[in-house]
Formats: sequence, structure tokens, C-alpha cells
Amino acid sequence: MSAQPAASARRSRPRAAWHVATVVETRHETPDAARLVLDVPTWPGSEAGSHLDVRLTAPDGYQASRSYSIASSTPAGQVVLAIDELPDGEVSPFLVREVRPGDQLELHGPLGAFFVWRPGESTRPVQLVAGGSGVVPLYAMAAAHGATGDDSPFRLLYSVRTPADVFFADELAALAGPAFGLDLVYTRKAPDGWPDAVGRLTRESLAARTIPAAEQPRVYVCGSTGFVETVAGWLQELGHPAADIHTERFGGL
Ligand SMILES: Cc1cc2nc3c(=O)[nH]c(=O)nc-3n(C[C@H](O)[C@H](O)[C@H](O)COP(=O)(O)OP(=O)(O)OC[C@H]3O[C@@H](n4cnc5c(N)ncnc54)[C@H](O)[C@@H]3O)c2cc1C
Repeated sequence: MSAQPAASARRSRPRAAWHVATVVETRHETPDAARLVLDVPTWPGSEAGSHLDVRLTAPDGYQASRSYSIASSTPAGQVVLAIDELPDGEVSPFLVREVRPGDQLELHGPLGAFFVWRPGESTRPVQLVAGGSGVVPLYAMAAAHGATGDDSPFRLLYSVRTPADVFFADELAALAGPAFGLDLVYTRKAPDGWPDAVGRLTRESLAARTIPAAEQPRVYVCGSTGFVETVAGWLQELGHPAADIHTERFGGL
């Protein structure tokens, strides 16, 4: 009799493939970002935290592709992305400003087996740390946590420029409660009466506002490359083992 495969190997994961998506809805997520709701009839579903590649093809055949985290998806249904515009970028200005309902996009995914959160996999607490648009896969994890009733403690520390720049503001506020702690750090401007100092995250504020290493949280950090490397370095200095720190770098400095 053959040995039982490990639980993680038994779990069936959606397989990556190419898909044609039709844009159903576009809306402003923030002044510089758009939320795209896509209809993808062949989509297999995705794990919280995973991403996909969007491939654009110009009339002359030139192609460009970029990765985007999946904010939410359902099998054979809707895929939601949230895309921040980099004004000098090649792909993001097109996706944020030009794409319209009815347009078609080529997608490859879902991708990424390591930067995912799976309900019921562990009862250890989970600390999420987001910089800017890096909140997208972490929002997917928080939403999956809320939807599945998984009872591991969950917290999100979210560094963002101003209140207008908060992605999924209504959805995150609705998730916040005893099972999900939401903590915002404003780097340029805070709401009137905000009790905390405005400015970049520091090692001390990270230590004060995240689950301590002694509680052995699994930590997921996502944002620009510089943000992720800085935060991951501080977390290790604060005693979190490198193996417990999952990172996703969106690029840039
Ligand atoms: C796994 C993964 C998931 C991602 N998910 C998302 C997502 O959900 N939402 C989202 O908005 N973006 C996401 N990104 C970033 C995205 O893939 C693109 O890099 C981004 O949209 C810029 O593409 P562009 O063609 O407009 O810019 P490019 O033409 O590629 O670059 C223009 C300039 O901006 C710099 N740059 C590139 N990326 C960044 C960045 N993230 N921050 C700062 N400067 C940058 C480049 O170095 C260059 O100088 C993700 C990246 C990865 C790897």
C-alpha cells in the first residue's frame, strides 16, 4: 500500500493556463489606481495571494506582459485586479486609463504557490504588512480569512500615502473586527484628528504595531522592492525567523 501524500500535496491547486478575459467594469480604486472586474469563463479559481500575468499585444505584434495580484476570483467567473498607475510605465497607464468594458485581455495564471494563504492550514497568527498597492494580495488573504471563518488571528499593517490612496477601503473597514485588526500608517497626510504621527514606517513603529515574534506569527509582506526589503530586514532584527516571513516584491526601488 502506498504512503499517503502530505496534506499540502493532496490539496488540489488551480493550474496555470492562458485565458481570455472580457473587461466587465472599470472604476477608480484611488485617484491613481483602477479596479478591473474581468469575466473569465475558463478561470479555475485561485488561492488567496496568488497573481496572474496580463499580456497586451499591439497592432504591430509587439507584446508586453506584467504581473498583477488577484484581489478576488471565483471559478469560471469574475477576476478582480487593482492596478496602480506608474506615470512613466509602459503597461499600467494603459490598464488604468485606457481599458474599457468589453475590451479583451490575455491572462496567464493563477501563478505563485509560496505567497499564498490557505484557510485551515495553521492556527498560528498571521501578520500582513502592505506598502501601497502591495495590499492587493493581502486584501485577498484577509477576505478569504473572513469568508472561511478560519479562526487564526489576522492583522494588517498598511502603509499608504493619504486616506484617498487606500485600496479596498470599504472592504477592509467591513472586515475589521475581533478576528481582523486593521492598522493604517499614513506617510504624507492623515485624516483630521488622526492620533498617530504622519511619516514612513520605522523599525520602532513596526515593532509596536505588529504581532511580536514570541507569538510566532506567519508574516506576509508586499509592496515595492525597497519597502519589502526594509520591512523584512527589520522583522528579522525583531526576532522573526526568515522562514516565517513571506515576501512579494512588486518592483521599483
Ligand atoms: C507578483 C507581482 C504582483 C504584482 N501585483 C500588482 C498589483 O496587484 N497591482 C499593481 O499596481 N502592480 C502590481 N505589480 C507590479 C506590476 O507588475 C508592474 O510592475 C507595474 O504595473 C508597472 O508596470 P509598467 O509597465 O507600468 O511600468 P514599467 O514600464 O515596467 O516601469 C516603469 C518604471 O517604474 C519602475 N517600477 C516598476 N514597477 C514598480 C513598482 N511596483 N513600484 C515603483 N516603481 C516601479 C520601473 O523600474 C521603471 O523605472 C506586481 C508585480 C509582481 C511581480
